[in-house]
Amino acid sequence: MGKKIPVSGPWITQKEINYVADAAAKAWYENANLYNARFEKAFAEYLAVKHAVSLPSCTSAIHLSLVALGVGPGDEVIVPDITWIATAAPISYVGASPVFADIDPQHWCLAADSLEACITSRTKAVIAVDLYGNVPDWDAVLAVARKHDIAVIEDAAEAIGSEYKHRKAGTFGATAAFSFHGSKTLTTGEGGMLVTDDTEIYERVLFLRDHGRKPGDVMFYNTEVAFKYRMSSLQAALGLAQIERIEELVGRKRQIFGEYAEALQNVDGLTLNYEAPETRNTYWMVTAVLESRLGIEKSHLMRLMAGKNIDCRPFFFPLSMIPAYQDREEARKARARNLVSYAISPYGINLPSGMNMDAANIGYVCDVLKEAIAAPDLKESCR
Ligand SMILES: *Cc1c(COP(=O)(O)O)cnc(C)c1O
Repeated sequence: MGKKIPVSGPWITQKEINYVADAAAKAWYENANLYNARFEKAFAEYLAVKHAVSLPSCTSAIHLSLVALGVGPGDEVIVPDITWIATAAPISYVGASPVFADIDPQHWCLAADSLEACITSRTKAVIAVDLYGNVPDWDAVLAVARKHDIAVIEDAAEAIGSEYKHRKAGTFGATAAFSFHGSKTLTTGEGGMLVTDDTEIYERVLFLRDHGRKPGDVMFYNTEVAFKYRMSSLQAALGLAQIERIEELVGRKRQIFGEYAEALQNVDGLTLNYEAPETRNTYWMVTAVLESRLGIEKSHLMRLMAGKNIDCRPFFFPLSMIPAYQDREEARKARARNLVSYAISPYGINLPSGMNMDAANIGYVCDVLKEAIAAPDLKESCR
């Protein structure tokens, strides 16, 4: 095999190229906001939510969500220990503290009982994550949040098109945040979207993301110090083409997972992404978790796969163990508490899940993976 198989990547067609070219030519003057408005409208309609705001990233969507919900210094915000750091970093931007809750052993998203156990008198909000395209048990998470009167933000960065009881991911919190990074199912290169049904939050977000200007302000008369988070029209044009192809994109992700699942179904000690009844997983990243008894840690497996030109990613490290957080008191408590996170994370890898994966490449990846699991000597040789 000559070429490296990438871990993720988008599916761009002539439609995307045409829209971006049109935006470059025409989305100026009175049409400057045309593609952003169309992308936001199509996105909101797809999710059946009232409002969508296009932003430079999912990180900025989470940041604005926290500010709009009034989270600030002294507050605690609960996040799952297993997620990308972008879920938690904005909590520090607003001067609040992240608290790391455990995940569920089956769906790998936030566990509702651990969420409840982490709540204190300082808890202001929870950011639940639709990990790798799966969904948490939203009924249970929302019941805990309601009982304790804490706000819910949904980090749906990895889960465009996923569903829980026939409702789309991105409709479960006061706000939800999506990512359109180049690795995500729907891409604008870089980009994000904040969605909400709450018109007051929506208006506050529009104000906060434009340096504290009231919408329609023509005097450039800023009434607060705020932020500058806007998506360019070129990105919005790309996003519009992608959302118009969303069923195709999600279908491709599900097809890729299906091919992996078939090829790996009889491998003893290997578990792939779970899909609970009444949910729809969109499998952003096909993820293999090995039983610890096999003794194959993710770093060994990744090195071995890299040696065969296969690019993989590690199952997220618990946030409570990475250097960015490890010295905090909250991280120390989480390391003692989050048994599921610490049991799964060392033995999981994301397999190549890019939109360009074909049957031959999936077959090759599965053969290498099966070989690695069957022959521990291979594992030794890659140390
Ligand atoms: C990708 C990702 C983000 C961050 O998205 P950006 O657009 O890069 O800011 C946030 N949360 C999760 C779970 C992600 O996977």
